[in-house]
Amino acid sequence: MLKPDTVSDSGLDARVAAEPPMRLLLVEDDPVQRMMMERTLSRAGYSVMTAADGAEALCEVASGAFQIMVTDWEMPKIDGTTLCRQTRLMGLQNYLYILLLTVHSSPTDVVAALDAGADDFLRKPASEPELLARLNAGQRIIRLERSLKEAQSRIEVLSVTDPLTGAFNRRYLDESLNRAIAQAVRYGRPLSVVLCDLDRFKSVNDHHGHQAGDEVLQQFTHLVRQLLRASDWVARFGGEEFVLVLPEADLNGAMITAEKIRAALEKDPLVTCTGALPVTASFGASSLDLLGANIDPRFGGSSGTREQLLRRADAALYRSKREGRNRVTAG
Ligand code: GH3
Ligand code: MG
Ligand code: MG
Ligand code: MG
Repeated sequence: MLKPDTVSDSGLDARVAAEPPMRLLLVEDDPVQRMMMERTLSRAGYSVMTAADGAEALCEVASGAFQIMVTDWEMPKIDGTTLCRQTRLMGLQNYLYILLLTVHSSPTDVVAALDAGADDFLRKPASEPELLARLNAGQRIIRLERSLKEAQSRIEVLSVTDPLTGAFNRRYLDESLNRAIAQAVRYGRPLSVVLCDLDRFKSVNDHHGHQAGDEVLQQFTHLVRQLLRASDWVARFGGEEFVLVLPEADLNGAMITAEKIRAALEKDPLVTCTGALPVTASFGASSLDLLGANIDPRFGGSSGTREQLLRRADAALYRSKREGRNRVTAG
């Protein structure tokens, strides 16, 4: 049981923090202790939910809604260590920090609690300052895990992004186009790609400098993104060449999308550090031939189909160039 005579200000940290309160699950079978601890923890700034036994707690934990669990050891049916063990087996997406409270305090008990998956262990009756201080330590772990996850997802985004334009990079194109092809073939859905290449881009660099050239690439990508549907995406194939991937689009739909981009680019010059520059692009579209599409490994699987799809789009792009540029050709 908590010793209510000691008042702590360590919970203040949690209250004044700008972030939303940590969600804490309190598991305690004794109604009086449960009520007192709930009051203490709420006062300390936690968003507290309670469970009266281990079985009820397991249901709550499975929701993934909690960051911290404070649990009693001695409970009917599922006890605290079993609850810890089963919680760890769930493989929750975000880490749940577990503090186990118990009257047991021998070294063997401590080992059993930590082995079961508890992060920390506190002897009952716990003093309020110690409980809150230990939970503060738990909060540090939770925040650390969160910032690691955020850093990891930033790295993941960077690893598939072209740094200059923000379009997807070649690596993403290869992997994701394979996936898109496999999905389209499996469900018998259309899929198209459009290759686009800026016209006479070398002369932009030559006459206005590399910086202006970079800005043209950035603005072109921005324009393309504005004109694509949410499920479509653009990757930088290399240099001044881009691939649009259009799931659910047949060849006609791909031609319409490419023409929309071509016309928008032609209509207004792109603004760069050296002034507004008229820019045009040439396009080549190709579609998955649903009857002929084959992702059989003997024919190179999705990668073989991807190469074929891009080769046809490239041939169409080449025709657009040969026939005068600033045009869309179907492959
Ligand atoms: P075409 O109409 O036949 O496509 O002519 P082009 O001048 O666009 O084609 P070419 O392949 O002759 O030149 C492409 C140019 O793109 C040459 C290269 O310096 C430039 N380039 C490639 N990557 C970048 C980049 O990241 N930034 C800038 N500024 N230029 C780039
Ligand atoms: Mg108990
Ligand atoms: Mg070019
Ligand atoms: Mg080129």
